[in-house]
Amino acid sequence: MAEQTDKRALVIGAHPDDNEFGCGGSIAKLARDGWDIAYIICTNGNKGSHDTAMSSYRLSEIRESEQRAAADVLGVQRVIFLRYNDGELEPTTALRTEMALYIRHFKPTVVYTHDPWKQYMLHPDHRAVGFAVIDGIVSARDHLYMPGLSQIGISVWRPKSLYLWSAEQSDYTEDITDTLEMKIAALTRHHSQLDGNDGWAERVIRRARDAGKAAGFQAGESFRRLQL
Ligand SMILES: [Zn+2]
Repeated sequence: MAEQTDKRALVIGAHPDDNEFGCGGSIAKLARDGWDIAYIICTNGNKGSHDTAMSSYRLSEIRESEQRAAADVLGVQRVIFLRYNDGELEPTTALRTEMALYIRHFKPTVVYTHDPWKQYMLHPDHRAVGFAVIDGIVSARDHLYMPGLSQIGISVWRPKSLYLWSAEQSDYTEDITDTLEMKIAALTRHHSQLDGNDGWAERVIRRARDAGKAAGFQAGESFRRLQL
């Protein structure tokens, strides 16, 4: 059953809810298929509110519990919170190294994250995470990066594929016809983000229908796929 052990995915998003929006349907499929899935949530999302009575401290706690609930819906086994402040991420060497360390630790065969090359993407954290993950993959796979880690048994790891969500130049569509409902159910857990946002589910469904159409599916999630 060597194949069984290859079923490991790492999903890295800037904020609580990004992973569900980006690839929730695909992740639900992997979970159903017995994959071991870990989430990394880089920021605490503590600026994501229009409620003037909300504090950053309370919001970050709320968003972590919403994220755990959403991950449970999809069948994700582990959620790692890095707890950086929302809106303050930069694609530093330190963040890249941190990503590389998680990649070496979890040994994922597939990695999902933001496409940092999406034009006119407003949120700086989305760009920062996308670049840090891509650069981190390079650091994770070659032994002369972080040489001390190999000496304590954290050896190099090379994922097979990288899927970038929200890509303008997507070249791969996952058929999520059977898991679109689970994606919506998981997103629903992000109450602080979506409860007052009328029509969000219809918009997510419409986008999935549009993405699927070109590939001949009832619903899809599109990615730029890099074979590594
Ligand atoms: Zn986000």
